[in-house]
Amino acid sequence: MREMSTDMRNLRVSPINQAMFSVSGESSSFVVDIKNRTCTCRMLQVDQLPCPHALAVFASMKMDPYEYCSYYYTSEAFRNTYQETIFSVGNPAEWTVPNDVHDIVVIAPNQKRSCGRPTEKRFRAA
Ligand SMILES: [Zn+2]
Repeated sequence: MREMSTDMRNLRVSPINQAMFSVSGESSSFVVDIKNRTCTCRMLQVDQLPCPHALAVFASMKMDPYEYCSYYYTSEAFRNTYQETIFSVGNPAEWTVPNDVHDIVVIAPNQKRSCGRPTEKRFRAA
């Protein structure tokens, strides 16, 4: 968002109504709807991260842009992702495998499949 905030400097914000704003740049203009969290550039609804147009609106309205970021971008979500204990498998050379497990040989099922598309087993009634 900090990087994008440099892109919003040349944007002009003009209100359409209480929730919708027209944001125009040098060659294009977009409509930001802060109530429905949408922008016509679609970044706000797809990435759920404020686009430069939304950032320009938030700056002009003195609103907190972080309230419009998805929860999944927060450090809390990141921490919760790795909250559970993760057991790494480690080096296979250092594994302690019981002999009865070690001696089991697992091979692919002994089945021959003909190449091509399998025939249908269903037949239509006459
Ligand atoms: Zn936008």
